Amino acid sequence: MCSPDYFKKIFRTVRDWPKPGINFRDITTLFHDPVAFSRAIDVFAEESDKRPFDIVAAVDARGFTIGGALAYRLRKPFVLVRKKGKLPFKTISESYQLEYGTAAVEIHVDACKPGDRVLIVDDLIATGGTLLAAAKLFQQLGGEVVGVAALIDLVELGGSKKLRDAGLNVFTLCEFT
Ligand code: 5GP
Repeated sequence: MCSPDYFKKIFRTVRDWPKPGINFRDITTLFHDPVAFSRAIDVFAEESDKRPFDIVAAVDARGFTIGGALAYRLRKPFVLVRKKGKLPFKTISESYQLEYGTAAVEIHVDACKPGDRVLIVDDLIATGGTLLAAAKLFQQLGGEVVGVAALIDLVELGGSKKLRDAGLNVFTLCEFT
């Protein structure tokens, strides 16, 4: 099992992007390092072994890189949670608050069946709004969200606490303050 510090050293911080005052945690450096990328997926796979689940879901767009690899590794069905207006079939939608305005995520109506156990992955938890909205989508279809997982928790923004307070199991590889 790799330590949080091992992963923290892999991610790059881009200062003042996308606007002044923001320290953006850039995960592309993980994908440049095939050993670190496969270790990250292995850690998710070991962690997800603790609670059985049926479906891997991932959030548009960086979440797809992790969710796709994990679903392949575990031979599980893979579901895309997409930003509004991107999915071709019938969808359900859940809105959430952004700093300025709102956004929405969607899944296909047949993304899961009642009773399916779903693990949702994304690259990073900030306020937790995106993963909470994604979890509500599966719950609307009668799915059980067994956990949400991300590479990075921006712990001071309170998102992981918000997700835990909503009753979700949260797993992240490392935290940044
Ligand atoms: P939240 O909904 O938790 O506030 O924001 C999480 C979403 O914003 C994730 O889907 C993530 O891709 C994106 N995000 C916000 N800040 C960062 C950042 O510093 N780095 C990366 N990689 N993604 C971010």
